[in-house]
Formats: sequence, structure tokens, C-alpha cells
Amino acid sequence: MSIRLEGLIKHYEKNVVIKDLSLDVEKGELFVLLGTSGSGKSTLLRMIAGLTSIDAGEIYLNGRSVTHLPIQERGVGFVFQNYSLFRHLNVVDNIAFGLDVKRISRKERDRRVGELLSLIGLSDFGNRKPTQLSGGQQQRVALARALAPNPQVLLMDEPFGALDVNIRTQLRRNLREIQQRLGITAILVTHDQQESFELADRIGIIERGQLLEVGKPDEVYRKPKHLFTAKFLGKVNLLRGEYQSNVVQLENLKLPLIGDYPDQQVFDVMARPESVFLTRNREEQYDYVLGRGKVSAMDFAGEVERLIIIMENGQELEVVTNLNRVYELNLHLGAEVWVGIRDYHVLPAEDISQHTI
Ligand code: ADP
Ligand code: MG
Repeated sequence: MSIRLEGLIKHYEKNVVIKDLSLDVEKGELFVLLGTSGSGKSTLLRMIAGLTSIDAGEIYLNGRSVTHLPIQERGVGFVFQNYSLFRHLNVVDNIAFGLDVKRISRKERDRRVGELLSLIGLSDFGNRKPTQLSGGQQQRVALARALAPNPQVLLMDEPFGALDVNIRTQLRRNLREIQQRLGITAILVTHDQQESFELADRIGIIERGQLLEVGKPDEVYRKPKHLFTAKFLGKVNLLRGEYQSNVVQLENLKLPLIGDYPDQQVFDVMARPESVFLTRNREEQYDYVLGRGKVSAMDFAGEVERLIIIMENGQELEVVTNLNRVYELNLHLGAEVWVGIRDYHVLPAEDISQHTI
């Protein structure tokens, strides 16, 4: 186990910012902590690094408790959102900063900096000042600087937050390659779901200082344990259903309930827009047929088409489909369709009291 957090708690005055948070990150894993603004991501990362004090709990890095060690003895590299390079130093001296503190030989310093420059693809940029670099290049230098002293773990706080979309995608690939090549254990913090999907071995969802759930990207997307996660990671259709001996009964459809669920009567069946399946005829549907509906809105969204279908019972469903399918089915406003779901996931309903079946 490379990073172990046990029962971490942090208050700012009366506000609890991190609530009894525990987490294990495996050696060599890239763990992405995903949460909205103000959920406590930066605070948690800073606690691990030793930049912020903690009120309770223990932090272990590679089996060693670092809870009471100062930052420079924890063996962590930290990358901030706003590059934070030293403006008066050139790229080489920025990268070597953590090495110079350690007083290693000149030869070793040059070797290490050369290695890192090549790793980040900036071998020809060693003499430039930060102002002579693009945002993406500056952030690569910040990464190299964090890696220079050979930290045991790498912590990154929204490292691509200030960059534009195309560069961000490129840098994510670079980062993933570098992290895997070095086999370094890393936690990256972001509020961007797409970023978490592209980078993470596992994702942890943090909300109001609580780690709601942890899983592989496709697990938390397809089989979330919480409604909050389901909604935060993408669009969802929710269909209220009633429990009856191992199935959830929607109006005229029985869906098997598999797995561990609390003992309750009401459940929400979640279907992502891309798992709703439209056909013109009943016979073309598969197993889980919801019924008939009408196309009530169509929005071009680039690679896909977004539709709203109003079912006969009045329920609205969001559907994402590709353009070929739109032409194939001759979909237009008012078109009548059969609606099925290819994939579903059952969540315990969280607002039962407000709902009548
Ligand atoms: P995130 O990084 O997820 O946006 P933060 O960890 O920065 O969230 O903040 C979590 C909460 O803690 C917020 O409500 C924020 O206002 C509060 N907070 C953060 N730093 C401080 C501080 N130094 N003093 C008081 N409150 C703080
Ligand atoms: Mg933050």
C-alpha cells in the first residue's frame, strides 16, 4: 500500500472540511480525486503533503507514518494549478530547485535535469525563462520540478485547470505516459469528469469533505452507489420503481435486482442517455422495453444527437444517439418510437418521503 489515509479530519473554525476520510492508494496507481469546487480536494491534498495541519487521523506513505513529519521529510512532489515556477530562474534551475536543496554533485544534478527535460519533451528549452514558455510547457516544467528529487508520491492539484481544452488533452496523455513509465504513485485532484475518466486507474468522489465512493472509471459511471455520483458523472434518466421479490417493478417492466441493496420498497432505475434504445417497431426491441413515446426535442451536439422523448405516461427521457441512427429511423419532432433500455442500474431511492407511487 503506497498511500494510506486513516480517519482524517480537518476543521476550519466550526466548519468540518474533511470528515473522517480514509483511503488506500496502491503502489503505482494514478488515483483521481474528483469533486465540485469547495468539496475539500485541495485541503486533503495539502494535508497529505504536510502543507496544511490535520486535526485527527494518520497518513502513511509506503507504510511509514508521516503524520507528524514536516513537508520536506515526507517524500512528496507537489504540482499546483497555477504553475508556480520561479520566474527569475530558467527551466534548468527551476527543475533543479529541489536537488539544489539536497546538495548533490553538479554532475548528478546535470544528469538528472537532462533526464527530466527529455521526459517532458523540452530538452531544447533548458535556458528559457518561464515567461518564454506556453502555459502547457510551464506546467510540464512544474511536473519535472516535482519529480526531480525522486518523490515516493506525486500530488497534483488541478494541474491542467488553467489551460485550454486541446492542450489539456495532450498534457493528460503526456502525464499518463510519464506516470506509468516511472511507476510513481500519484493522486490528482480535479473537478472535471472527463479528465478523471481519461487519467484515472481509480476515481474517488469527494463531496462536502466526504469520500462518497471509490472505483474504476467505468464502475463509478455505470454502477454508482450514490445518486450524487450518478448525476455528477453524466446525464441520467431515473425511473421510479417498486421492489417485489428480487425484481424492481416499473410500470409494466420487471428488472432483476442483483447485488447488495438495502431493504426498502422504492428504488430508482438509472439509465444513461446513451443506453436508451429507440426503434420504430416493437419487434426490433430487446429485453427491457419501456413502452412508446414521441420525440419532443432534438439537439445537434456535434458527434451525437440529443433527443428528448416523452413517454405515454408523461415521463421525459433524455436520449443520445448517433446521426446514422437518426437517419435510419427517420427521427424528427413528433416521430413515434418504441423505447427500450440496453443497460440499467438500480439505486436505492434517496427521497422516498417526498414521493408517492
Ligand atoms: P476544493 O479544492 O475542492 O475546491 P478546498 O479544499 O479549497 O476545496 O476548500 C474546502 C472548504 O474549506 C471550502 O469551503 C473552503 O472555503 C474551506 N477552506 C479552505 N481553505 C480554508 C482556509 N485556509 N480557511 C478557512 N476555510 C478554508
Ligand atoms: Mg481546490
